[in-house]
Amino acid sequence: MEITLYGAAGEVTGSCYLVETDSARVVVDCGLFQGSDKVERLNKIPHSLIAKPIDAVILTHAHLDHSGRLPLFVKVGYRGPIYATKGSIDIARLILNDAANIQVQDAQRANRIRHRAGLPPIEPLFTPKDVAAVCQQMRELNYNQWHAVGQNIRVQAVEAGHILGSSSVKLTVNENGDTQTLIFSGDLGPFGAPILRDPARIDEADTVFIESTYGDRNHRPLTETITEFEQLIHRAICTKGKILVPTFAVGRAQQILYHLFQIFKTGSISPFPIYLDSPMAIAATELYFTHQDLMDEEAIALQNSGQLMRDFATVITCQTADESRALNNIEGPCLILAGAGMCNAGRILHHLKHNLWISSTVVIIVGYQARGSLGRLLLDGRSKVKIFGETIAVRATIRGLGGFSAHAGQSDLLRWLEPMARQRPRVIVTHGEDHPRHELAHKIHELYHIDAEIPRMGDILTI
Ligand SMILES: [Zn+2]
Ligand SMILES: [Zn+2]
Repeated sequence: MEITLYGAAGEVTGSCYLVETDSARVVVDCGLFQGSDKVERLNKIPHSLIAKPIDAVILTHAHLDHSGRLPLFVKVGYRGPIYATKGSIDIARLILNDAANIQVQDAQRANRIRHRAGLPPIEPLFTPKDVAAVCQQMRELNYNQWHAVGQNIRVQAVEAGHILGSSSVKLTVNENGDTQTLIFSGDLGPFGAPILRDPARIDEADTVFIESTYGDRNHRPLTETITEFEQLIHRAICTKGKILVPTFAVGRAQQILYHLFQIFKTGSISPFPIYLDSPMAIAATELYFTHQDLMDEEAIALQNSGQLMRDFATVITCQTADESRALNNIEGPCLILAGAGMCNAGRILHHLKHNLWISSTVVIIVGYQARGSLGRLLLDGRSKVKIFGETIAVRATIRGLGGFSAHAGQSDLLRWLEPMARQRPRVIVTHGEDHPRHELAHKIHELYHIDAEIPRMGDILTI
């Protein structure tokens, strides 16, 4: 069999693998490239991918860097099933529709300018209509059950602990009387994070594709991260500043709120206004409540006691653009959670534009920031940034709190791999920039004496 890498090789975005045997062709993930304009120009469905019919698409989880090219796939004529867990299907509907609306608005804005310049209009990458087609083709995968997805190919989703509905994917492929087990890690969450269950233990593998977003480092322990979070809140309270938390609507937003409630409960900080400025995050939070089966025991207990509901009821939600805009005129201290997580779009851009130049503002970066994204520029310490074409001085305090990450750090990635490593599988390191990939491969060699591979985008691996 052959596996072709159509993204997330040398970077974290654009995850897409084609698994091809004599009798079947299956795609694992079909993610969007995100970050700089140059990277985003890769957002196409390559000809070689659709040169022959595809039997099935399997989605590890709903984040755009794994699901965002699905509408393009359907646009070029794919009509087959898209398998995902129930949680992923619900979240993907939210995330893809939100992305489609942003694409449409961006195209309208660009076209107003292009029209005045006498240029032809551009088309949005995809629209809510394309997303509706994707949703129609979604088929539910139950965790820990085998499903046939093509001739001689079976798939099983197991918990990945990354966001609601996230999974690692096991594929078994029968060829000429021989069975191979392939594991695609998807994005792996850290062990011991609140709300979600831990990544599942996988014992058997002939070939493992492992993500390496943070393959080069361990996050600070969660307790230290919470302490630093408290200190930053204290600082903002003293100076009456606004705390801006750019956040992915699904996962981070709910976990940050959860940590805030816990902090309030210790009494070290008195409750102050928290704004959830994201219709998608508001909807995603509701989905968390309806998927108790995907929560860990602690979260289930909190929900059953009614505490989680009472806590979330204290959050001020902003559905409309007007409500969001009104936050420009409120006084600090307050905390605003708004998307997009990498500050490359969404309402957070308006809050950054209005507050980055004010020294009492605190910006807390809790998620991964791709190369070229505004969030990455801020973390790199730029003194000026451009937002909506306007130069903004950066006088705010900018802090990255990696301990809140939805991604496993290096030691958790190695811990996940350990039970499989005993079987000496072929290990392929993807979904990471080159430095983290090399560092993780180095550690895999040191600990498990396996020479992990570091393929490039477009590489074809023969298994
Ligand atoms: Zn993810
Ligand atoms: Zn990812």
